[in-house]
Amino acid sequence: MSESETKSVDFIRQTIIADNESGKHEGRVHTRFPPEPNGYLHIGHAKSICLNYGIAEEFGGQFNLRFDDTNPEKEEVEYVESIKQDVEWLGAQWGDNLFFASDYFDKLYECAEQLIKQGDAYVCSLTAEETREYRGGWNTEGRDSPDRDRPIDENLDLFQRMKSGEFPDGKYTLRAKIDMASPNMNMRDPAMYRIRHAHHHRTGDAWCIYPTYDWTHGQSDSFEGITHSLCTLEFENHRPLYDWYIDKLGIFHPQQIEFAKLRLTHTVMSKRKLRELVEHKHVDGWDDPRMPTISAFRRRGYTPESIRNFCQRIGVTKFNSLTDFGLLEQSIREHLNQIAPRRMAVLRPLKVIIENYPESAMEIRHAINNPEDESAGTREIPFGREIYIERDDFMEDPPKKFFRLGPGREVRLRYAYFLKCHNFVKGRDGEIVELHCTFDPQTAGGKAPDGRKVKGTIHWVSAADAVDAEVRLYERMFQRENPDDVPEGEDWKDYINPHSLDVLTGCKLEPSLVHAEPGDSFQFERLGYFCVDSNDSSPDKLVFNRTVTLKDSWAKVKGK
Ligand code: ATP
Ligand code: MG
Repeated sequence: MSESETKSVDFIRQTIIADNESGKHEGRVHTRFPPEPNGYLHIGHAKSICLNYGIAEEFGGQFNLRFDDTNPEKEEVEYVESIKQDVEWLGAQWGDNLFFASDYFDKLYECAEQLIKQGDAYVCSLTAEETREYRGGWNTEGRDSPDRDRPIDENLDLFQRMKSGEFPDGKYTLRAKIDMASPNMNMRDPAMYRIRHAHHHRTGDAWCIYPTYDWTHGQSDSFEGITHSLCTLEFENHRPLYDWYIDKLGIFHPQQIEFAKLRLTHTVMSKRKLRELVEHKHVDGWDDPRMPTISAFRRRGYTPESIRNFCQRIGVTKFNSLTDFGLLEQSIREHLNQIAPRRMAVLRPLKVIIENYPESAMEIRHAINNPEDESAGTREIPFGREIYIERDDFMEDPPKKFFRLGPGREVRLRYAYFLKCHNFVKGRDGEIVELHCTFDPQTAGGKAPDGRKVKGTIHWVSAADAVDAEVRLYERMFQRENPDDVPEGEDWKDYINPHSLDVLTGCKLEPSLVHAEPGDSFQFERLGYFCVDSNDSSPDKLVFNRTVTLKDSWAKVKGK
């Protein structure tokens, strides 16, 4: 690879290239994605998946999916299944390389015994609170546990009895014997095992002691022969600990490399906060289309291609920053523009009677399915005496620059004729309920033979043939750009956007949409990209989600 090519390559790939050149792992590249099954995956995880899987693919290496399932209480089978589904949907293939840290519980136990025998670990009887107190603070050294010099035999005996269930929760811990004076708190004799009489989703009741995440993670990578262990910046301070364990055990040494987490504007990403939104019913579940989870994005109509493209665009760096949600949406828009068939739909219908159109007549108009893709062909749409147009496309007393309908004004109906408004009917509450118009049969090609021009083109749906649907429009989940950073005394939940969901019923769609299947995506002309909801849509009741608007309307709102 030439120098100029290397420059455009991120720092992680540069390290891998250098390792391959120096023969560090005999040219082997093996990465993994290591989720804890304690929630659904979010777009930040997608960054990690794309990075790890992308690197394995590019370098002809291997990719593991490993569940770091050390915490029996918080983990559920539901999460494991959803994570697998999401990783697969994103296009990362693990083949036979599916692992669970809980597969290594026996091996980890043996490793712990090895450290005890080497004098590198001891059984400690301090309570959780005492342990915290002994640990010291950023500016104060910790104090040695009174059990730190417990004889090896006694440690071995106690550890075995911890395992056999002799003691209640919290009675003892197994700790690494490192350095209570270390400036790195992670090195102050960290816990390796805790007693927890709890049921585990895979090992059942076989264990009543569980390894900590820090004692498990590095060794799991090592057991699997992971060459480049990619993780986020907050683990930088854990690297010396992982290295210490591996060096003491004398086992294969993966190289940990840290990168900055993806953070997006107007949303939260921590699983704890996402879980809170779900449990307190601020949203309708993990896959509520307003959530930043992969399952929510899938339901909303985002495509794996566009998420991968987004991840490539943002790249990887060592610096924490906030990425504009609009950038993700731009990737979605670009992909859907290529692939989504165009349709006409009226979200807030206003009835139009075309008075000079024969009463029992109807005709078929031809519409282009996708101007970006000629192979998508054309379709037929019925046109008749009564149509629906968008409420917004008519004004009783329009300003000069309003190029849509008003009394005496003329517009072009997309794929049909010029339409002129003569009159309107108001309901009892003063609302406009019906327009009376005429069409010009000479304008079927979109132009008038007499050369007169109209500025606006609006969409429409034939009233007699329209399909009813519910359409859900979404806005940002949070009104604050960074809800993780709120003024003192305020709560991040105070910034939940009360208008993040707008449910429209009685929307009118062109009849071809009656065959739309859950997950199908369309561009509704002038309105955005929409996708059939996979949870709530049925042949009897079509439900669409707006995936994304046609333009970044939020940028405008923000600017106001
Ligand atoms: P929590 O939100 O509770 O802190 P987590 O996001 O760390 O949990 P894990 O299941 O441990 O969840 O994450 C799996 C992998 O995804 C880890 O390697 C982690 O570094 C990475 N990851 C998590 N969040 C992000 C993010 N926002 N951007 C990039 N990678 C991430
Ligand atoms: Mg984590």
